[in-house]
Amino acid sequence: MELSYPDPTGCQHKLGETSRGLLKVCNLSAVTLLSSSWLQFAGKLNATAPTTTQRATNPFGIGFASSPIARRRANPRILTPPLPARSYRSRPLSHSAPSNSKPSSPLLSHPPTMAAAATSTAHSLLLQRPTAPRAPAAAASSLRLPARAAKISCAAVAAPSASSPLTGAGDRGVYNFAAGPATLPLSVLKRAQAELVDYHGSGMSIMEMSHRGKEFDAAIKKAEADLRALLAVPDTHAVLFLQGGATTQFAAVPLNLCAGPSDPADFVVSGSWSDKAFKEAKKFSAASAAWSGKDAKYTALPPFDDIKQNPEARFLHICSNETIHGVEFKDYPEPRNKSGILVADMSSNFCSKPVDVSRFGVIYAGAQKNVGPSGVTIAIVRKDLIGNAQPITPVMLDYKTHADNASLYNTPPCFAIYICGLVFEDLLAQGGLAEVEKKNAYKAGILYDTIDASSGYYICPLEKSVRSLMNVPFTLAKGPDFEKQFIAEAAKEGMVQLKGHRSVGGVRASIYNAMPLAGVEKLVAFMKDFQARNP
Ligand code: PMP
Repeated sequence: MELSYPDPTGCQHKLGETSRGLLKVCNLSAVTLLSSSWLQFAGKLNATAPTTTQRATNPFGIGFASSPIARRRANPRILTPPLPARSYRSRPLSHSAPSNSKPSSPLLSHPPTMAAAATSTAHSLLLQRPTAPRAPAAAASSLRLPARAAKISCAAVAAPSASSPLTGAGDRGVYNFAAGPATLPLSVLKRAQAELVDYHGSGMSIMEMSHRGKEFDAAIKKAEADLRALLAVPDTHAVLFLQGGATTQFAAVPLNLCAGPSDPADFVVSGSWSDKAFKEAKKFSAASAAWSGKDAKYTALPPFDDIKQNPEARFLHICSNETIHGVEFKDYPEPRNKSGILVADMSSNFCSKPVDVSRFGVIYAGAQKNVGPSGVTIAIVRKDLIGNAQPITPVMLDYKTHADNASLYNTPPCFAIYICGLVFEDLLAQGGLAEVEKKNAYKAGILYDTIDASSGYYICPLEKSVRSLMNVPFTLAKGPDFEKQFIAEAAKEGMVQLKGHRSVGGVRASIYNAMPLAGVEKLVAFMKDFQARNP
């Protein structure tokens, strides 16, 4: 038998009657009480004042036998109470500029000393669960139950919020550290869920309607407008919603920017992704590596003067954040080619911080890390570069095709674009990318500080000035067996998808915009605890 109830996060829950009294999440629109045992149970709502421990276990304040951690161990899928929003203001950020460049932002590097405060009580932090918010008094007291079974409608279900506090994935029982497709803001998922079946009163899902109808037209236009606002995209640049992943852009860029296969192009090869882009570009241009970090195992980025730029090159290509190796450009090199074109693959740090778009000829990014699901790739292209594609360019890879047709030349990935639109709205509601960057710098800071303070137990081989705020790869000095154990135990504690990329091994924590601070705090506490238990 079941009892469902609203909670203050706007999610509806169902109490499943099990021997352990476990909570499950569901999506019901009414409360139905059918069993007399549930009536007795629910009757306690008014009869018994909950203890602090009881309050921590569910919004009604009815306590269950075991602690959240014990319940998690028994069943990793178990719902844990929502975590409260965290404040970033109490800890100052340290601003250190990267060694290889002139700072363009005060937040170029992670704060080095924050971890001490955040992690000094590592074990206790790990075990501690914040007290869950209680159901509003009105909602609880309205549950005055009749003596016999009755149907009770519950209208007090809050609409999903458009903005995302830094609670989130924890509400789903896990913190998801995947590199991509990656965690999305819970508020966005709830909003999509609420709108899924009947989009804006149309009686259809956004997946079921014409991409040329008024509803989708409004959705894609708003997504573009919000992205333009977020990144301050100037009128000189077009925003395109494309398909084929960032991998397709590895070919599209030289096809659109080079006159033919003998036209030179420069690549900074700073990791696996820029290496792939470089190799693909060789098919459609005379691409050369202006700098390569391969010998240093992709742990550094070049001082900009070390990039051997060809003045005849059509463009200089960089990958602004290497998702696998974890090196991130904190500033960008000036292109020294005649046409002044800088191209960046921003797949894994897109919309994680403000960027001066006017410095780029082309920015492209697969959405599935920071701004949406897989299926859509966003390209921001300087308008004067559009319309010069090589004659062999397939119509779908020609930027002009998409610019002339407002990204609606053929059927676009409607649902993915719609979700990106919700994410953009969420990022704007958070205060824009400057705010988002502060949060990202803080999260990465406490993680790197923990690694650096571990006396070599955890190793991050990257040069400090180029460490990514998005993807934090590290190894354990005790070797691969302990890494496996670390990843398995973390998963049991609800921190999933921490395995490093198959090409490099180790551990990788991807902490994109939507990773709550609470998730990184929990990881940091777990790392200290793991080290203490396995010296
Ligand atoms: N570039 C970077 C930096 C990436 O991280 C990825 C995917 N992980 C790609 C390109 C390839 O993207 P896609 O899978 O969308 O083709």
